Amino acid sequence: MNIRDLIRQATALLESAGCDSARVDAELLLMHIWKISRTDLIIRAFDEVPEDVQQAFQRVIKRREAREPVAYLTGEKEFWSRPFRVTPDVLIPRPETEHLVEEMLERFPDTDGTYLFCDIGTGSGCIAITLACEYTQARIVATDISEAALAIARSNAEQLGVSERVSFHHGDMLQALTSDDGPFDAIISNPPYVAHHEMDDLEAELGHEPRGALTDESDGLQFLATILNEGSERLNPKGLIIVETGTCGLPETPPQLEMKKEIFDLAGRLRGGVYQAKGL
Ligand code: GLN
Repeated sequence: MNIRDLIRQATALLESAGCDSARVDAELLLMHIWKISRTDLIIRAFDEVPEDVQQAFQRVIKRREAREPVAYLTGEKEFWSRPFRVTPDVLIPRPETEHLVEEMLERFPDTDGTYLFCDIGTGSGCIAITLACEYTQARIVATDISEAALAIARSNAEQLGVSERVSFHHGDMLQALTSDDGPFDAIISNPPYVAHHEMDDLEAELGHEPRGALTDESDGLQFLATILNEGSERLNPKGLIIVETGTCGLPETPPQLEMKKEIFDLAGRLRGGVYQAKGL
């Protein structure tokens, strides 16, 4: 079969499996399996695909039909224009989370500043490592309850050349921090904020991601509240906490913090909050 027919056939299979980006997925997976570029895909449309490539492609299409996310099948996801290795041990970085990085760059415009930042629940390390790449002199402390996630995050830090400036601590939320960690100029987090009752309505792909990275098995606000409350004690005077959220919104603002901004996405949905220590 040639490239064009192979892509057509796979696209049809993925469409019937309910994938809404069937064609793009099929193309990405063939590019990954065969290690060819998008340009190759187009200019070589009528080239025969080698038998072994076809077989490997068909195997991966089967997994995609079972709604395994493309990023787990390719083992990689781009975040803030850099490649991150991902496995089912970590949440796949989302474009929404780039809003948090954007917000940081706006609030801390001096990218050579000697800041100390903290990322709670680092997963793939996408936030912590992006901050280390963008802020050339900053140090970042990143925590996660999952050792398996930390191993991925460490390898991403290594790969992107910032491992000397990012320390990874194992433990639950801020309990992973020692008394030496901080005070921070900013604490940033994309915590599990999906409520227990919302879990059954999520798209099939999310069923392949670590459940503990998605939900607090409660009202969705538990980890956010912990980060605001315990985080406020770890901030510099006027330090910031920047968090992502979903449909459950944001918890009540603790008295020691001031809510500076609600972050909205293009569709007008609340996606996060920026808080500042009152520095009392
Ligand atoms: N910080 C990581 C991310 O934003 C992981 C978040 C999580 O697992 N909830 O992708």
